[in-house]
Amino acid sequence: MRQSYDAVVVGAGPAGSVAARRLAERGFRVLLIEKRQEIGVPVRCAEAVGADSTRPYIEIDDRWVKARVSTYSIHSASGACVKIPPTEPTLVVDRKVFDWELARLASQAGAEVRTRTEATGLLIEQASVVGIRVNSLGRSSEVQARLVIAADGIESQVARWAGLKTMPPMADYYVGFQYLLGNLRGRFDPTNCEYHLDQQAFPGGYGWVFPKGDDTANVGLVIAANRAGDVSAQRLLDRFVERKYPEAHILGAVAGGVSATGALKKMVTSGLVAVGDAAHQADPLTAGGINLGMIGADLASQVAADALARGDVSARVLSEYETRWQNRFGAQHRALYRIRKLLTQMEEKQLAHLINVASGLPLQTMGLRELIFTLFKTEPRLLAEVGTLVTTGLILK
Ligand SMILES: Cc1cc2nc3c(=O)[nH]c(=O)nc-3n(C[C@H](O)[C@H](O)[C@H](O)COP(=O)(O)OP(=O)(O)OC[C@H]3O[C@@H](n4cnc5c(N)ncnc54)[C@H](O)[C@@H]3O)c2cc1C
Repeated sequence: MRQSYDAVVVGAGPAGSVAARRLAERGFRVLLIEKRQEIGVPVRCAEAVGADSTRPYIEIDDRWVKARVSTYSIHSASGACVKIPPTEPTLVVDRKVFDWELARLASQAGAEVRTRTEATGLLIEQASVVGIRVNSLGRSSEVQARLVIAADGIESQVARWAGLKTMPPMADYYVGFQYLLGNLRGRFDPTNCEYHLDQQAFPGGYGWVFPKGDDTANVGLVIAANRAGDVSAQRLLDRFVERKYPEAHILGAVAGGVSATGALKKMVTSGLVAVGDAAHQADPLTAGGINLGMIGADLASQVAADALARGDVSARVLSEYETRWQNRFGAQHRALYRIRKLLTQMEEKQLAHLINVASGLPLQTMGLRELIFTLFKTEPRLLAEVGTLVTTGLILK
């Protein structure tokens, strides 16, 4: 490891690997560090990605595709159900291999990749980030960097050390727990992702069953941290699994958090940018963050590369990244955030009614925007909210 780089990227998840690769492709000297021993493990994810959105970043090999999803089904507590087509073809992948391959592509582009190397602090001079402190394989050192990229996930410390406000409100912090369940042949549709909206079973969040082959599935939940009460996410998931799949074998278990706020307003400071979950870029409705994190990293590295080339990595110059993100996702994510709030505040009767109305609509020919508008029109109490969403720019594809 050298003593100085153009850019040091902290965290080799999807966002970090894409940022490192893009900067290396532009000819900069890049170090990508990952605190874990091995990239991609443990997997804290239901492993669903949009096939089209991932294409600019990775060529997905059929061998790591565990399921091809052609529908999503939405279920209410009382059993109302509607199947909708996804906005883009969805794949359930082996996330371990997916993350590993992204890091390999960064390395192939010229980035130096180091595992078991943890950022332990920032070097700051005159209010500007100028490098990091690292512990690599038990040895501490300082590494100078013209730019630091915080891609260290939802528990990001790097962004916080730089003064970015990364703590989401409890109501918008999803606590997640998931089992990989086996012995489920014939118990779910391997071409469908199930979402369960049941406020008693998943307070403030939702549950899911994502196929991972014909026999196994990722079965998990997220709940709002402020609604968890005395019952843990794991206990809530146990109840769901005992009820729905008593015969299942537990092949794996993971816990993790996701912020559902929409991206941080301030994602840069002098000498540092935050990307992916570290910048809260996950979808504020579904909490899916893989594709959005890679897009965020791509936007950030375009701006960062220009800033490095100009020799000016001030917050003013880097803030162009925040502007590009807001132009692309700002209005859409604010609308999705409101929709999540509406869905999680709805009574079961109202939700079941909406689902029943939706199941009678020509869903194959409707976009999500039309669908949401049509549904909320059937509920007079929600009309005012829909009006607000549309006038504030509900730009859903
Ligand atoms: C239960 C669950 C299910 C999910 N399911 C989906 C899904 O199906 N589809 C989807 O799109 N999204 C899903 N998500 C969200 C998705 O996993 C994240 O949005 C995505 O991983 C964010 O990528 P990232 O690169 O920003 O961060 P991460 O993937 O979290 O990567 C951050 C990396 O930084 C490393 N790191 C942290 N601190 C340091 C440090 N100090 N030094 C060095 N390295 C460090 C970590 O070890 C980690 O490898 C799910 C999340 C959870 C919790």
